[in-house]
Amino acid sequence: MSTRQKLTLTLSMIFLVFLIIMVILITFNFRDSGIKSAEKKAMLTSEIVKSGLTSHMVNGIMDKRAYFLNQIENIDNVNALWIARSPSVIKQFGKGFNNEIARDAIDKAVLNYGEVKKNMTETTTKSIMRITIPFKATAFGETNCLSCHNAKEGEVLGAISMVLDVTDMRGSSFSTVGYAAIAIAILMLLVILTINRYFKPYVNIFYSIKDVMMAAYDGDYSSRVDGGNLKESKDVANMLNSLLDKLQKVFLEIDKKVYIFVQNKDKEISRDPLININNTIDQLSEIYKFKQTIEHDKDLDDIYKRIAFVLKNKFNIKDFSIIEADTISGLKKVVYSVNGCHCDIEKGKCRANRINSIVDSTIFDNSCPFFTKTDLNYLCIPYSVSNELNIIISIVTQNEKENLRIRGLINLILDYIGTAQPTIVSKKLMQILNKMARVDQLTGMYNRKYLDEFTETVIPQAIRTNTPYGVLMIDIDFFKMINDTYGHDVGDEGIRIVSHVIKDSIRETDTAIRFGGEEFIVLLHNCDKDFIKEVAEKIRINFSKEKISAGSESFSKTLSIGAVMFPDDSDSIWKCIKYADMSLYYAKEHGRNQVVCFDKNIIKDDSMQDSF
Ligand code: GH3
Ligand code: MG
Ligand code: MG
Repeated sequence: MSTRQKLTLTLSMIFLVFLIIMVILITFNFRDSGIKSAEKKAMLTSEIVKSGLTSHMVNGIMDKRAYFLNQIENIDNVNALWIARSPSVIKQFGKGFNNEIARDAIDKAVLNYGEVKKNMTETTTKSIMRITIPFKATAFGETNCLSCHNAKEGEVLGAISMVLDVTDMRGSSFSTVGYAAIAIAILMLLVILTINRYFKPYVNIFYSIKDVMMAAYDGDYSSRVDGGNLKESKDVANMLNSLLDKLQKVFLEIDKKVYIFVQNKDKEISRDPLININNTIDQLSEIYKFKQTIEHDKDLDDIYKRIAFVLKNKFNIKDFSIIEADTISGLKKVVYSVNGCHCDIEKGKCRANRINSIVDSTIFDNSCPFFTKTDLNYLCIPYSVSNELNIIISIVTQNEKENLRIRGLINLILDYIGTAQPTIVSKKLMQILNKMARVDQLTGMYNRKYLDEFTETVIPQAIRTNTPYGVLMIDIDFFKMINDTYGHDVGDEGIRIVSHVIKDSIRETDTAIRFGGEEFIVLLHNCDKDFIKEVAEKIRINFSKEKISAGSESFSKTLSIGAVMFPDDSDSIWKCIKYADMSLYYAKEHGRNQVVCFDKNIIKDDSMQDSF
């Protein structure tokens, strides 16, 4: 029910109750005054009868009183009239010619007690009043009653009873009440109509404002308030509408301007621009904080850890790997992983990287043949950081629902990687430069600068963890002759071949360094005496089998190798390197093309000058 209907109903109810009360009050009032006027009429008539009878008595014509009483009885609305003598009067003067005795209990009561008695009998059609009035003896007044009657002052001499028809009076009171009720009802109707008419525009604008505000609350600022015809309501509507115009325009502008900064363009759009603005600002502020943080991160590893933190904590992704893919060399490297990478990516295989688009196992089963855990789902998202570098986020999920949830997050995830992109590129560049500074250009092996860092960082750790290292010092025999005979380029090729042989003969955990010229150092991780010898021999033999091409000719060369155990031979790595050099020198001295393991009993420390 609308407010207007409620108002009308309430007013109508109030007026109806008012009308009923008015009708009841008027009806009772009229009835009361009707009864009173009938009583007055009866009293007057009784006085007339009393005076008339007294004058008949005084004039001695009491026998003629019947005519007089009949005349009185004929008065309009007087249905009956009779006189009853008291027992004392009957005793003194008899019952009279008309047998004037008490006719009923009322007469008797009035004669006994001297009080007026009245009684109303009302039916639906008639209202009849019975009234009985006593005549009392008195010595005062125009006629002295006591002069004729044997009675005391105030004694009841008789009573006059009248039956009056007061139906007309009731009818007139009913019609008066009816007219009054009609008049009041019309008045009330007019009041309701006036109030209704007066309030209608205000109620209408109230509803219009309510509708517009509800739409605005739901994000729709396009609805406008209908001001109706009243000047005041029009003014209110105009003010509200211009405010809504302004809000709508400003919100859309802000949303558009802020939205530009978000990379995730297909974010969920709400119809409420305020929610969109809030979401966009939230997103921007989070990304801004992320950007600021990674800018202060030390190296690429920290940045990848930061991306991993976002994936874990913001997006609640439990199992994922971050992979770097070098687009030029084709090399791929897992740079972060929660539970280990579940695919053969490090063997150089990645479908997402190759096709440069998202690979989702829930869209097509086994879409990537390199994923090893076939009972799990995966979602691999590639991102091109630069011409040389792609990042692949490989997310592993337990079920399709989780996969679907993460699909909805892809653009947000890409927003974060996009934000990190410039920093990744610059850190990658730094990493390359750092690596270049530590890598020999001819062989791709680490250089002496790297050896310095290695001895500073890795060796103390090896001492703490009791990890032994084997140190090999390798030198090409009669290398100078290659340069001299075939030229420098062929010499370079010889150096490259040695480096390949060394790399192929050692494990990933071992470290090969071009120490200078055609000399190499190999640090064999967690190695014993047998293993060092085995690896050294492997390098020596494999190289001796290699052919170095020089134009149409080719030839083979040999290596001399010195081998030392750290920390068995010395707990100083630099001393071990020196001993390895001394052992190498010993090998050269004793015929070349051989491996000489350091023996402090044979190779004396002072046998060569300290060159380190
Ligand atoms: P040995 O068996 O005693 O080692 O005799 P060797 O001729 O190899 O003597 P040594 O090791 O002293 O020779 C080093 C030579 O290596 C000297 C230098 O001309 C040459 N060399 C050093 N660096 C390079 C390089 O980068 N490229 C080329 N082609 N030659 C180099
Ligand atoms: Mg040499
Ligand atoms: Mg040399």
